[in-house]
This record gives sequence, C-alpha cells and structure tokens, in this order.
Amino acid sequence: MIKDHSDIPALDKRIPGVPAIEPIIFPKLEVLYTRRAARLEELAFQLVKEAAQNEPSSVPEDEVNAGYFSFLSGLVAAQRYILLTTPLSLADAEPIRAMLHGQNTSPDSPTLAMLEESVYWQKAFAALVAEAGAHLPAETQDALQALAAEKPSALAAQAHALLSGGYDEIDAGAAVFLWAGLSVFWAQAIALLAAGDDALHHRRSEGGACPCCGAPPSGALVLTGDREGLRYLQCSLCETRWHKVRATCSVCDETGHIDYWSFENTTAPIQAETCGDCKSYVKLFRLDRDPELEILADDLATVVLDAALEDQGFIRAALNPFSFPA
Ligand SMILES: [Zn+2]
Ligand SMILES: [Zn+2]
Repeated sequence: MIKDHSDIPALDKRIPGVPAIEPIIFPKLEVLYTRRAARLEELAFQLVKEAAQNEPSSVPEDEVNAGYFSFLSGLVAAQRYILLTTPLSLADAEPIRAMLHGQNTSPDSPTLAMLEESVYWQKAFAALVAEAGAHLPAETQDALQALAAEKPSALAAQAHALLSGGYDEIDAGAAVFLWAGLSVFWAQAIALLAAGDDALHHRRSEGGACPCCGAPPSGALVLTGDREGLRYLQCSLCETRWHKVRATCSVCDETGHIDYWSFENTTAPIQAETCGDCKSYVKLFRLDRDPELEILADDLATVVLDAALEDQGFIRAALNPFSFPA
C-alpha cells in the first residue's frame, strides 16, 4: 500500500498562525517515482483483471493497455534508479540555473546548444533505453539503440523539437524515452537549485506554464491534509507543483465560465475543469477524495474523459509525457 507515503513534503509549521499558501511545492523525487511506478503497476493489474472478466472480444485492447502501463512502471523505476545511483551534481544543474531570471519572469526556453552540452540527460536517455527498452519488441529496441548511439547534436535536435511542442516531428516511442531522460535531469536540477535559492520558491506562472522550467502542466492536484482543498498544477517536465486558485482557468485566468465534468457524480475523484472563455480544460486529481491518485498514471487511465471533452470542443491544456498528442 502507498497510503501515508506522500511525495509532497510536510507543511512547515514553525511559524504560528494560519500558514501562508506556498506558491511552489517541490516534490520528494524519490517518493514521487516510487508512487508513480507502483500506481502504474496497480492500474496494469486492474486492466488484466478487467480483461479476464470481459467478453473475449474486448480482451486484446485491455491486454495491450496493461502491457503499456507495466512498461511505463519499469521506465519510472529506471528513472528512480538513475536518481539514486548517479544523482545530478550542482555543476550539471548550472545550464538550468542560467535559464532562470527574476521571480516574475518566465524561464528561458532551452537552446539547441544547451541541450547538446548537457551530457547528463543524454546519458540518462541511454540508460533508460538499456533498462526499460529491454522489454520492448526487438525492432523498437533497435531503433531506440540507434538513436542512443547518435551524436549529441542529433539527440539534442530531437529533444529541442520535443520541448518546443513539435511532438509530431519525433517518433512516438522515442519521445517517451527522450522526455523521461530530460525529466530526470530537469527535476533534479530544479530541486538542487531550490535548496539554495529562496527566490525559486516564490516564482509565479505565466500563461499556465511551469514557473521553474516553462513546460506545460500534466494536470492539477487538489491536496489533502494540512493543505486540504488547495489546488496545485504539476509540471510535466520538472515535477514542480505551483499554486493556482480553484475555479480559475489555468490558461487564461478567467473565472466566469468554469465547469466540472466527470462520468460519475459530483464527488468523483477525477474531474475535468473546463473554461468557456478560452475553451481549454485540465483534469483535476482530487487527493482529498482519493489519496492514491497519481497524475500521469491516472490521467492515462481516464483518456475516455478526454475524448468526451474534445467532442464538446474543448482543447486539452495539459501534457502527459506517456502519451504525446499525435
Ligand atoms: Zn517545470
Ligand atoms: Zn480559460
């Protein structure tokens, strides 16, 4: 069981009175990876169970999905292994520090040169291919290994396209590994820099992007415990969470036409929050209703909700690096 095992650090209660809302919460990265891998494995298990209960005609799809969840669990476990065995040094985090400016200014976008010179993520990518890629079909493995053997400039070009939103320029299978390598680099860098830089704890999001790295969110959490009911968006790249007032559009900041959708009742643990002003939506993962939820895993398990919202003309404002838009 993963209950009482949150990757969100406990609230600092040394200052008496009502605690101020923290603009940013940095995760306990090792716990985050452990929870995510466990949740993916649990959802894979549930899919296998459902497949066994269903009519034979519906079995193949559930089995394929279960296989993918299981593979992703292995990929996240491999990210955790990199974190534990070859942690990032402060010197390796320097290129990311150089991209951060004032508290109210968005971070710079990564350049091709920065990605080419940052060896850490390239090594992480190769390690993930060697570890998690070993369970994939031979043909896919060969393609990934060929990519891992490419010159840093070629690898950087692919990463740059991916980080700039050019998802269709990158092979879908390679994209998942590239992002996982980039993410284990960025997440450690931001956590290291935050330990020595108070300003990083007070950055504000502009236009719905992560205030620490500029990447899109994967979704939103409604927290429980000491932070009951507070809403934070979670970064798809560096895993940082930033505060956003409830019932405020995370993209355009409007509050006038916000609606909530789910297939269940109004107390569903996963809901979509739509904005009638800009037509965007994000999913809310309500840890106050189900503390076992994990954004990336549970987002992937609820793609039917996305399909229904897209049918209604809403545009997804979140990115799940396990399932890039086609
Ligand atoms: Zn970020
Ligand atoms: Zn909006």
